Amino acid sequence: MAGCEAVGVVKEIPMRFVRALKCKECGAEYPADAARTSCEEDFGPLEIAYDYEAMRGVVTRASIEAGPRSMWRYRDLLPVAGEPVTGHRSGWTPLIKADRLARALGVDALWVKDDSVNQPTFSYKDRVVSVALTRAVELGFDTVGCASTGNLAHSVAAHAAMAGLAAHVVIPHDLEAGKVASTRVFGANVVRVEGNYDDVNRLCTEIADRFGWALVNVNLRPFYTEGAKTLGFEIVEQLGWNLPAHTVLPVAGGTILPKVWKAYREAVTLGLVADTGAKVYGAQAAGCDPVASAVRDGRSMFKPQKPKTIAKSIAIGNPADGVYAIDVIKQSGGWAESVSDGEIVAAIALLAKTEGVFTEPAGGTTLAVAKKLIEQGVIPRDEPIVIGITGNGMKTIEVMAGHGDERPAIPARIEAFERLVRG
Ligand SMILES: *Cc1c(COP(=O)(O)O)cnc(C)c1O
Ligand SMILES: [Zn+2]
Repeated sequence: MAGCEAVGVVKEIPMRFVRALKCKECGAEYPADAARTSCEEDFGPLEIAYDYEAMRGVVTRASIEAGPRSMWRYRDLLPVAGEPVTGHRSGWTPLIKADRLARALGVDALWVKDDSVNQPTFSYKDRVVSVALTRAVELGFDTVGCASTGNLAHSVAAHAAMAGLAAHVVIPHDLEAGKVASTRVFGANVVRVEGNYDDVNRLCTEIADRFGWALVNVNLRPFYTEGAKTLGFEIVEQLGWNLPAHTVLPVAGGTILPKVWKAYREAVTLGLVADTGAKVYGAQAAGCDPVASAVRDGRSMFKPQKPKTIAKSIAIGNPADGVYAIDVIKQSGGWAESVSDGEIVAAIALLAKTEGVFTEPAGGTTLAVAKKLIEQGVIPRDEPIVIGITGNGMKTIEVMAGHGDERPAIPARIEAFERLVRG
């Protein structure tokens, strides 16, 4: 990825525990005081490196539990220097003990991490955007944006409104109407592009270079991706400071899965949880499954695809961090699978009917893949399982059209009602 130029320059507050931006390929380190994306030597992506020694005994269960009931309770483990500018209502979403769903799947213990109710835009993206925009303001940017499959655009638009920043969000032309309308309402410049997400992403790399804006998942990507760790921290804290044996997560650009794993490892490193092992599993739609195909075929590199699925929010055929998702799945001892659009719709209905949680196709994908892995015997039935539900079904209601009870209206008479319910 191009655009490793330093755009913003940080104000004088140092980040307490951040050591550097470190190349994931060669380990070269760069100061974390500017918007950089990639290594100058090999164009490898940069990731935040922390000083865990300095955190030991300072970042503890007690220090975290004393924090706010939001994602910012994990602020010491995030790359921001000062006070958060947004995200005060983001994170700390419910971890639901899903007993009815567990029975339906034939497993002993299952939890749903419910980011479909994350605030303010009802997807996991409010976590990554809160970190990226806070850092963008610290770096002196006044204009932000993103390349998005829908939920990120929605979130950037809302958080930009809260922080008083101008926003330009770029999306493929064919997204769900509800997502686009609920993005426009925040006053962002919503730009629809003829093409798929990979075309949008390429364009945004050029926009970041030419306009010098903070595009959260392009030139602020190292900061943005760290926000996804908060989902993992919440899971372990809400499990009473325990690692879940099995975690199933969706894979799009490949941010959330490796970052939840990073959160689990950091929790072990800091002594917040015992290292009891935690396998992570990737979920994709069959119509866009570069990572799942690579895992199934035993390859460490994925082959880019042209997406064709109703799971539009996770339809990324050339995922920026796909190789790291594959790597983490293998390292953890997990696996990956993909499921058809029909299985996705059935899983959305199953989650709604058993647990009262209405998710979008990304969540349907995750549940359908969990079901498949359980049926294949890959995930054992007698060990704790967490599934990450990352988005809300109210934003994509069109995918459920024709799958519910759509009988004609009845006259307002008791006989008509009786005929209907008694068949
Ligand atoms: C963005 C998104 C994901 C995961 O995307 P990554 O780029 O892999 O982090 C999952 N679910 C939903 C609903 C999303 O919007
Ligand atoms: Zn490098």
